[in-house]
Amino acid sequence: MYKLRQYQSEAVESTVKHFRRTNEPAVIVLPTGAGKSLVIAEIARIARRKILVLTHVKELVEQNHQKFHDYAEQAGIKSGVFSAGLNRKETKHQVTFASVQSVVRNLEQFAHEYSLVVIDECHRVSHFEEQSKTNAESASEKSGNQYSQIVSQLKSYNPELKILGLTATPFRLGLGWIYQHHYHGFVRSSQATPFKKCIYELPLSYMIKNGFLTPPKLIDAAVEQYDFSALQSNKFGEFDDAEVNELLGKYPRVTEGIVEQIQMLAAGNENELERKGVMIFAATVKHAKEIVGYLESKNETAGPAKEQSADDVSKVALITAKTKNDERAQLINDFKAQKIKYLVNVSVLTTGFDAPHVDLIAILRPTQSVSLYQQIVGRGLRLAEGKQDCLVIDYAGNGINIFHPEVGEKKPDSRSELVQVFCPSCGFANTFWGITDNDGKVLEHYGRACQGILEMPEDEVLDNSMLEGSMSANPQDNEVMPCDYRFRFKECPTCNAQNDIAARECHDCKNQLVDPDEKLKEALKLSNRMVIRCSGMTFSEHNGALKIVYYDEDATELKEFFDLSSEKQRTVFNLQFGRRFRNSSEPRNFLSLNEVLKESQGFIIPDFVIAKKDPKRKSKTHIVWQVQEKIFDYKGKYRTANEL
Ligand SMILES: [Zn+2]
Ligand SMILES: [Zn+2]
Repeated sequence: MYKLRQYQSEAVESTVKHFRRTNEPAVIVLPTGAGKSLVIAEIARIARRKILVLTHVKELVEQNHQKFHDYAEQAGIKSGVFSAGLNRKETKHQVTFASVQSVVRNLEQFAHEYSLVVIDECHRVSHFEEQSKTNAESASEKSGNQYSQIVSQLKSYNPELKILGLTATPFRLGLGWIYQHHYHGFVRSSQATPFKKCIYELPLSYMIKNGFLTPPKLIDAAVEQYDFSALQSNKFGEFDDAEVNELLGKYPRVTEGIVEQIQMLAAGNENELERKGVMIFAATVKHAKEIVGYLESKNETAGPAKEQSADDVSKVALITAKTKNDERAQLINDFKAQKIKYLVNVSVLTTGFDAPHVDLIAILRPTQSVSLYQQIVGRGLRLAEGKQDCLVIDYAGNGINIFHPEVGEKKPDSRSELVQVFCPSCGFANTFWGITDNDGKVLEHYGRACQGILEMPEDEVLDNSMLEGSMSANPQDNEVMPCDYRFRFKECPTCNAQNDIAARECHDCKNQLVDPDEKLKEALKLSNRMVIRCSGMTFSEHNGALKIVYYDEDATELKEFFDLSSEKQRTVFNLQFGRRFRNSSEPRNFLSLNEVLKESQGFIIPDFVIAKKDPKRKSKTHIVWQVQEKIFDYKGKYRTANEL
């Protein structure tokens, strides 16, 4: 009845292969619309022992169970449902589809052995180990803990329990990646993550190219657009409502113009089909209400002129986080039934919402997350009868390409784009945010550390498998050795080791690393210190030595000299400057002054230079300052030069 698509079979094969080797929790990343439930059904079908499929909402429990039923039940594999919302509490079958909340409330009914837990929408899991977190961060953190409770319970009956997650969004701003290593051989995170490895991933572009999703048709915002670039987001990439409203208040006419354009595009013309479902993503509730106001007033005035579509079809609905559940369900139903044409929402319909007929997406909100942007656009990419494409218009100037991979960092500013930076140590092609010139040459990039992996565990197949049900995959066989090259770092003053710019302690000698903010604060307090926010520097020759002049934005300057014929000074110069040559992408050991002067354009400017009054050299007319420390790759609360 069903035949797996090739990538679905590949995802299943990767799962089997992975769990033959290890019990480490694994993730499969498939875009929305890739048919996750069929992948789950096939895994459940070939498993020989009991498995549990967890989801956070009853709709998905039902959907996954239905798919399995249609797919595998004829083969004689019985499945059951455990969900209070669906009024079913079955645990005796080989495959159980359950809602997380219901299982957590009835853990005693899961006091037997399962070989595998499959977690759908697994980006909601924050960790599996029970950690005593006192400052419960959010509701999602709480539900993340529910997964952890279930896993602990099942592990007490089977220490060899395998855990498989499925998601379309393995990265969330502020929370980071949900896994550490990718099967293509790179590191996503050096922090603890709930899942160890991504074992299969399918990009959105594959789905579109192969006709499994509708192609987006990107249109330039012909009318004006918002400029959100002056706003700062928090670590979750969210913007402050009051600030956004204030900024939008400065564009009184823009929103009206945008709404007019959306309505024009939605109406279609001789070259373009009339659009059936329009989703508008607003920045704040106030903004959304303003949009709804314009849509409704335009509808009334446009009504008589456009007989054929001036009826209920042009109706408008608004959904915000405050919209009550039953009202929301009703509005979504009406939208799906095409009784409502325009659905305006404020950050609520990005995931899990599925109305295949949507064929116009208008983005009026800022975001710095590639994943979030993809989720928004993804709402319009489902296949539907008669649908040829989905118009996508970004009025917020987010400038994100939906075909680009997730970088794992906020987009630093509107000028940034994805750049490829090869690691000088291992050769891995890293993807970072960066800035390029007109020819596409990378001028600057924001990458911190190489993401390459030097050694991946071998894909050797042991003679045991979760699917045949034997035990003891050996986790020690799976040591991954990541490349340790850093593009941005702070040196340990004790041992010179290079540490992450946020590290508190040297990874090598374990000495405390002083926070650069502390250094700056300290220096700013002392009258015999001077701190400049460095915006430029020049290299020249002075009595056979290298003279560096550092300037701040007001052209205050500090000087420093390096005698490059002295081995000791040369070493210091190379540690500080040579190592960072061309954004650390071409580290070099400079041997002579001439060589340095010839390449002076490629050196990186420190963010701050701290100097000290030289007590020995007193001049009558001016104080002699001696450079004491330079802070490179600064990240902290002080503003750096050239930053807004
Ligand atoms: Zn590397
Ligand atoms: Zn150290």
